[in-house]
Amino acid sequence: MVENGCPEEFRPTWCKHCQSKAKFHKHGSFTRSVLTMEELLEIKIFRFKCTACDKTCSVLPSFLRHNHTAALDVQEHVVQSHSKGVALRIISEQLSPQLAFSEKTLWRWKNYWQKLLNKLKPDFWPTVLARFPHLLLPRGSEAPSSLWGWVFWVWGQTRLQLTDKPAGCFQWLTFLSLPVAVTAGA
Ligand SMILES: [Zn+2]
Repeated sequence: MVENGCPEEFRPTWCKHCQSKAKFHKHGSFTRSVLTMEELLEIKIFRFKCTACDKTCSVLPSFLRHNHTAALDVQEHVVQSHSKGVALRIISEQLSPQLAFSEKTLWRWKNYWQKLLNKLKPDFWPTVLARFPHLLLPRGSEAPSSLWGWVFWVWGQTRLQLTDKPAGCFQWLTFLSLPVAVTAGA
């Protein structure tokens, strides 16, 4: 998808430097390596120049974090396994040889996503229930025992109906955490 040029949806609509909704011109590109659960990808990242302030920015596909080689699906796998009680050391050992990330790196990912979840926590259920008021929540022994458990459960139930079509649960959480100014234009 990204290899053959820049899809229109990746063009920035809002400048984080001067805050204007300016026009952007393409300003070159660079290549980055990305590790997903399945493969090593080389993807092209485009740079854009803001016509209002002349500063450049690059737009990452939403399955990536800035300066992270591991795509979100890898980080999601780690957090989900850990939330089910698997130790980070075991998860690290069980990743494919290509995904040779240390226990410490996994720990950093877990903390990052935990922080993001904490930030989303007050709005999580209101957002989900406003969008899916008829969602039938499991009760008793069927019910997830942690907030992460609920997050993955809600994701599994609603993923096919989400309008911005996130490819994974963590992409969806990232969308939920973006300021409204950014998501409204994207
Ligand atoms: Zn600008």
